[in-house]
Amino acid sequence: MTPDGASQGADGGDGRSPVPDNVLLRQFLATRSAECPVCGYDLKALPTDRCPECSSSLRLGVYSDNLRMGPWFLAVVSWTLALGFDGVVLAILLTVLAFIERPQSPGDIRTVAFMISSFGGLAIASAVGLWWVYTRRKTRWLRWPVRTQWTVAVCMFVGVGLGHALYGGFLMSRV
Ligand SMILES: [Zn+2]
Repeated sequence: MTPDGASQGADGGDGRSPVPDNVLLRQFLATRSAECPVCGYDLKALPTDRCPECSSSLRLGVYSDNLRMGPWFLAVVSWTLALGFDGVVLAILLTVLAFIERPQSPGDIRTVAFMISSFGGLAIASAVGLWWVYTRRKTRWLRWPVRTQWTVAVCMFVGVGLGHALYGGFLMSRV
């Protein structure tokens, strides 16, 4: 920091050469315990920039507490499971319709058309949910506090599951 409080870059902005990353890593680990992100080995006082246990190369970096894989992964799994289930049911319905048996009575045609359109709609909704979670990871998801990320992920998981269960119940009552 300069006397006026403005911070300087790694090169100090004053013509000094920047401190190499591997030197900064060694300085950081000289007095601190830190686990190897790959194998968990304690890297305190490490003399190189490579883990002695698993040989992974190491870098000093900047991280955020918001960067948690768990809630985002749960959200992705929720929509992926839904899309997989809806897609498989839709594929089975269309295969039966195309190659095995076509409904004859108007009532059967209506039922089959209803099932295909509703499973198609669910599959599209699941694809949109998956697309949203996937593409908004850096622009929205990770900017939420971790607690909010977990809340949204659990709500998605329960909501998607409950939505499918309710729809299944509704379908059974109609067929
Ligand atoms: Zn390691």
